[in-house]
Amino acid sequence: MNVSFNGLLHVISEMPNAVAVYDSEDLNIAIANEKMLKMWNRADNLDGQRLGDIFPEYIEQGFEGLLRNVWKTGEAFSGEEIPADILIDGILTPRYFDFKYNPLKDQNGITYAILHTATDVTDRKLAREQVAERQASEENVKAELQATNEELTTLNEEYMATNEQLDKYNYAINEINTKLTETNKNLGNANQGYKTSNERLNTANHRLNKDIDDLKSINDAIQDLNNRLADSEQGFQNLIAQAPVAILLTKGEDFIIEKINSTMLNILGRDESIIGKPLFEQIPELKGQLAADLLKETFEFGESREEISSPVRLLLDGQLREGFFNFNFTPFIENGKVTGVIDVAVEVTAQVLAIRDREETIRQKVVLEETLRNSEKRLQGILETMAEGVGIVDHTGQLVYANPMAQQILGLTSSDIESRTYSDPRWQNLRIDGSPLPDEEHPMTVMMTTGSKVFDMEIGVQRPDGSRQYISINAAPIFNEDGNLTGGIGTFMDVTSRRMILQGKDDFISIASHELKNPVTSLKAALQLLERAHNRLPEESRSKLISQALSSLDNLSRLIHDLLDTSRLEQGQMKMDKSTVSINDLFNDCCAHIANDSKQHITLSGQKMLSVYADSQQIGQVLVNFISNAIKYAPDSKEIVVYVSQIGDDEIKISVKDSGPGIPKENLSHLFERYYRTNYEGKKFTGLGLGLYISAEIIKNHGGRIGVESELGKGSEFWFTLPTQASHQQNIS
Ligand code: ADP
Repeated sequence: MNVSFNGLLHVISEMPNAVAVYDSEDLNIAIANEKMLKMWNRADNLDGQRLGDIFPEYIEQGFEGLLRNVWKTGEAFSGEEIPADILIDGILTPRYFDFKYNPLKDQNGITYAILHTATDVTDRKLAREQVAERQASEENVKAELQATNEELTTLNEEYMATNEQLDKYNYAINEINTKLTETNKNLGNANQGYKTSNERLNTANHRLNKDIDDLKSINDAIQDLNNRLADSEQGFQNLIAQAPVAILLTKGEDFIIEKINSTMLNILGRDESIIGKPLFEQIPELKGQLAADLLKETFEFGESREEISSPVRLLLDGQLREGFFNFNFTPFIENGKVTGVIDVAVEVTAQVLAIRDREETIRQKVVLEETLRNSEKRLQGILETMAEGVGIVDHTGQLVYANPMAQQILGLTSSDIESRTYSDPRWQNLRIDGSPLPDEEHPMTVMMTTGSKVFDMEIGVQRPDGSRQYISINAAPIFNEDGNLTGGIGTFMDVTSRRMILQGKDDFISIASHELKNPVTSLKAALQLLERAHNRLPEESRSKLISQALSSLDNLSRLIHDLLDTSRLEQGQMKMDKSTVSINDLFNDCCAHIANDSKQHITLSGQKMLSVYADSQQIGQVLVNFISNAIKYAPDSKEIVVYVSQIGDDEIKISVKDSGPGIPKENLSHLFERYYRTNYEGKKFTGLGLGLYISAEIIKNHGGRIGVESELGKGSEFWFTLPTQASHQQNIS
């Protein structure tokens, strides 16, 4: 789990609404915040448990299938007022939820978690149902009232009719009474008829009284219904006032605030004084906002409108602040006519801000990842083009990375890296003196065991193929945040050539001192003998000693010349003084005396009259060097032939051929290197290994080529070429 995801989990744990995150396909709960636990009616912390294990009734109701589908398809799922039975006090209790399953994806679009947000809307739903029920019962009461009124009217009419009838009867009675009185007066025997009329009158009166009683009980029923209506009105008002969601009822086209609960007043930041007044007069900032438009539409078209997470700007504490709401506008209908609008709203600002915060976190994560990728690319580019080898080892010393230069220096392929440690036994580590380097002295081990940096430590490495190289190592430890050593980084340079030069110089100094010592010793011995006994020595011995001294001096002077020439060549100070010279003259000038002194027969043959344009002194030195070497290394060769030939139009080739022992093939390519001398077992030859090196440099400076052909037992032929005089003249013209 990465840092941002952890951050998200932390944000979730702090969120005021119900949120859970599942971080595996089998719905492991990474986090369920307190609100969610409360909603699930679970008290304990469930982080790290499977949803199905702790919440089987949720799973049985099909929510697992929905979640798995979100994981599989990567598409969000949301539901509104979805029923779910929650185990409360051991009883499955129906509740309603608005919820959303949002997949969280990494930069590759792969779902790595599901964000489950939910709102328990049971109360809202029940409130709405109750309102509907109330409305229905109100309608019923009204209908009953209507019927009763009609009945009452009928009864009243009957009553009036009866009264009229009664009046008529009374009138008739009076008339009869009058007539009776008259008749009594006149006919005293009419008493019986009068009595009968009285009885009929009593019966009518009795019926009238009964009707009046009926009328009374109907009036009572009406009164009772009126009371019930008042109670229901009060209950309805209480319900609205106490509802946890914000409710507002406006009436008429001026949207007069008829009813508003405290939740809505809180949201609007107003008090009850706004009741009975036009909404847009009291909350003018609503004008032009989407909520206001939808409210008007609901009234105008008599159709519900709703919006989720919709921004609404309200003037709170003198400042226009933006909040987010899920709201629903429903037409308020009376007697089949839209007379107002019911607005039910739930504030979701915290959730929207949390989601924005999460989106911002994700955006920042993406930017950071991009930056990281770029800097990794840059680093990779640097590492791949570096002239130094870079190797990284883990805490066990296993090589986990070697840049191309490191691979080149160590002769590794990428697959070798996996199996290579810095103390791999197939690579024999050596001290500078060639002795095996114990593991504990390896600079990487020193760095890993001491945790300190190591600078410019040079070691030798013998590869599995036996070849040796020398590397200079800088090593630095890598620590993690807790200060523990997690590996190390080594940078190294191939210093084999530097080491070889140093080695060569060491060898050279020892050879040079030895070579210089020999003629000096012999010169000193000859001079000492002459000093001590020159009077006593015969003439012949004296001149022998003098020529021995001179020969030693010659040797010494040759060695010193070679050394001087080498250093001049290295510093580019060997100046050329070119002129046209024939090979014949060149040979006679420089080599005649060698030829005379030598036991071997030295001849010049071929096209010896050819001329070259060259520094005659330097070319003479090359020729002398070839001939002296032939005399020195092929002493048994009776004849040494200097042969001149024209090669093509542009070159003249001069070769010196002996029939000496020849040179092993593997040595041939090194002969012209500085300080190189082959080892002739048993035989001691003087020399510094510089003659051929100087010759090669001279020829190169003249634009020619130099080489050797030799076969063991058959002699050697050293040769060089020079541009002809003609090609030289062509070049200068
Ligand atoms: P050095 O001063 O040792 O003679 P050079 O550079 O003149 O140095 O020669 C290098 C090596 O080449 C010699 O040590 C010798 O072994 C070999 N070499 C030169 N010329 C001949 C030759 N004609 N026959 C055999 N070996 C030769």
